[in-house]
Amino acid sequence: WFTQPLVVLVLGASGDLAKKKTYPALYDLWQQSLLPRQTVIWGFARTRWNTQQLRHHLRRSMAEHASIDRFLDLCFYRHGKDYGDKSAISSIFQSCTIIHNLLIYLAIPPQVFTDATLALKQVLSQNRISGFVRIVLEKPFGHDTISCRKLLDSLKEQEWKESELYRMDHYLGKEMVQNILMLRYNNPWLQHIWNKDVIQSVHILFKEPFGTEGRGGYFDSIGIVRDICQNHLLQILTLIAMQLPEQLTSAAIRDAKVKVLKSMPVLQPRDCLLGQYEGYSDDPTIADKDTRTPTYVCVRSFVNAPTWEGVPFVLEAGKALNERLCEARLFFRGNGTSALVLRLQPQPAIFLSTNMKRPGFSMSPIHTHMGIEYGEHCIVPEAYTRLLLDVLRGEQASFVRDDELVAAWELFTPLLKSIEMRSPIKYQPGMDGPHERENFLRSMEVGKPWSPPRASL
Ligand code: NAP
Repeated sequence: WFTQPLVVLVLGASGDLAKKKTYPALYDLWQQSLLPRQTVIWGFARTRWNTQQLRHHLRRSMAEHASIDRFLDLCFYRHGKDYGDKSAISSIFQSCTIIHNLLIYLAIPPQVFTDATLALKQVLSQNRISGFVRIVLEKPFGHDTISCRKLLDSLKEQEWKESELYRMDHYLGKEMVQNILMLRYNNPWLQHIWNKDVIQSVHILFKEPFGTEGRGGYFDSIGIVRDICQNHLLQILTLIAMQLPEQLTSAAIRDAKVKVLKSMPVLQPRDCLLGQYEGYSDDPTIADKDTRTPTYVCVRSFVNAPTWEGVPFVLEAGKALNERLCEARLFFRGNGTSALVLRLQPQPAIFLSTNMKRPGFSMSPIHTHMGIEYGEHCIVPEAYTRLLLDVLRGEQASFVRDDELVAAWELFTPLLKSIEMRSPIKYQPGMDGPHERENFLRSMEVGKPWSPPRASL
């Protein structure tokens, strides 16, 4: 692919995602000479811009990037009346002298997904593309099992092949998430402790120190479970719990992840703690001032496989908490403080929260850690950049397959329905969740690792 001409088509080029993620990721690839020499990037949306206006818009938002102007020379724009506007899309293809490989990025809201894919399919049938056609789709992939299946079926009816579809969960592009399988695969000793005999519980948590901050309208319609748990945290869970395949091929990895999801019993409302921070509905974009949408969730699940029998996998996520943190903690049986911690953010790190002798004459133990830090010298690619490169390479391991998606929704849909009937517990912004959190976690056999000061990791 690298020596062949590439056309990138960004649908929704006027939007937030395109500006914040898609174009910066394309710029990153271009800047590192990871795009073919003959690359053209077309933006498409309804906004009545021309190419100069798109460039101006991108220049303002990506101004900190050096050599931005040379990159913008590759970027063009066309507007259409809507995302089903075949003649406008077709005119883009007509203006390309050659289309060998085509990467389409759907940075548009889900309600126009299928109009866009249908129009693209019809336009593509009239244009000969000699190389690949690959489509990147962004979450949300439905709202529950039924809507997810509907979306998948409509893509099938339009005759898109699964091998052409790249469903993005950008957590799968994060350095530490990519590291999970590498660590497991390349450290045979880890395989001896990666099971119920040694691991007491697994805690995967996401904490954000801010609330919706005037952008709660969309969040209020989905809540924290759909926003973070059902996709990002569940993906991490599957990578931790899956059986290691003999070879790390895309198909084998995705098969193993589906197997985990299918082995998990449907989540139970009684195993779920819900919270909402005080002042959440003061966000002017939230219309329903009595909204019950949870901004915090902690839910226990199990993996019905001999390796993990009886081990709770606890997913926890919250907004307006006391810090920014995302970690997967594997607690060792025993005292509730010894754990292997994989930190995704704010900075990737791996450490063993452990106990040792207090230095000196004392024979008492202290908590400490053994850690690997990713300092500033360690250049870690942005998740979107890495994933776009994977799309170009045709590498699907870090994208969500259709059966994986259905299995994930089946696991969560009954819980999501029950949540609609429940009132979440209020908590103060800046806390680590509702007061009930500590008891709840203890009842789930989740401990508390000794966390080293951030500066030392
Ligand atoms: P957005 O800014 O609201 O929408 C992108 C573009 O789509 C807009 O510029 C607009 O362009 C068009 N659009 C908006 N509403 C529309 C409607 N009702 N009908 C037809 N076209 C409409 O959304 P976004 O934040 O870029 O997100 C795009 C997709 O990525 C969404 O599915 C979102 O859930 C997902 N996503 C976003 C982020 C993020 O960081 N923003 C992160 C993960 C996933 P025109 O009016 O010019 O056509």
